[in-house]
Amino acid sequence: MGEARRKRERFLSLHPDCCFCGGITPATTLDHVPPRVCFAGRHAPDSFQFPACPGCQNATRIDELVFGFFVRMADTDDENFRQGEFERLLSGIKNNAPHALPRLNLSRGQLRRSLREMGIPKPPGILVEELPLAAISIDVHPHILRYARKLALALYYREQERIAAPGHHVWAMWCQATDRKRMNAFEDFVKMTPLVTVGERKNVNFGNQFAYRCNKADKPDVFAAIAQFGLGIVTAMIVVDAPSANHLKWRDSVQVQDLWSH
Ligand SMILES: [Zn+2]
Repeated sequence: MGEARRKRERFLSLHPDCCFCGGITPATTLDHVPPRVCFAGRHAPDSFQFPACPGCQNATRIDELVFGFFVRMADTDDENFRQGEFERLLSGIKNNAPHALPRLNLSRGQLRRSLREMGIPKPPGILVEELPLAAISIDVHPHILRYARKLALALYYREQERIAAPGHHVWAMWCQATDRKRMNAFEDFVKMTPLVTVGERKNVNFGNQFAYRCNKADKPDVFAAIAQFGLGIVTAMIVVDAPSANHLKWRDSVQVQDLWSH
C-alpha cells in the first residue's frame, strides 16, 4: 500500500462519516476545504482536509471551481497571483461554468456606480476607465454562497469536533474585502468571533492567503465564523441547532439535510 493511501485510510478510520450531510453517510474520500485551487501553487493550508462522501464532493464540484476562481480574481495582493494558475482557472470556468465569467470592459457609468456602491472614493490621478474592475455576474452568487455553506460545515467540524446534525441550520454570506460598506456591516460579526486561526503550511511561505476567526458554544449549539482569503473574498457563516434557528426565525438559512439534495 502506498504512503498516500495509507494516510488516507488512517484519516478515514479516525473520521468515518461525511461531515457535510449530517453524519449519516460513510466518508470515502478526503476533501480539501477551502479547495486547493484557492492557493498559490495549489498549496492548501495544513490540516484542512475533511471526510466526505462522493455525493457531497460531486454536488459542490462547480461551486468549488467558481469559488476558487473568484478568490484568486478578487485578491489584490500581488504576492498571491500566479498567471498560469489564473489562466487555467479561467479556462475551467469557460468550459464548465461559462455563466459565471466576469464581465470586463465596463462603461464609465458602470464603473462609477460600482465604486459608489462599494463606498470607495475614486483614487486621484487615475481615470475611472483605468480602474481594474470587473463585474461579477449575478449567477456567481449562488455558487459562492453554496461553497461558503460547505466551508461553514467544515470549520464547524474542525472546531466543534463533531458533525453538524441533519436538522442544523447553516447561514452564510460573502463580500469582497474592497466593498467597504459590506465590510463595515461585518464589524459586529468580527467582534463576536475572537478565536483567530491563521492558515499555514510547513516549508511554504503561506502569507495572508487564508485565515478565519470564530466563536462557539455547546448548549445551545452555536458556531459563528468569518473567513478571509488574501485581500479578496470574505465569508461570514453561522451554524446552529434547530431549536436556536427556530428561535431566531431566520428566512435564508438552509438545513444541512437540504443542502446538497443527494
Ligand atoms: Zn456527504
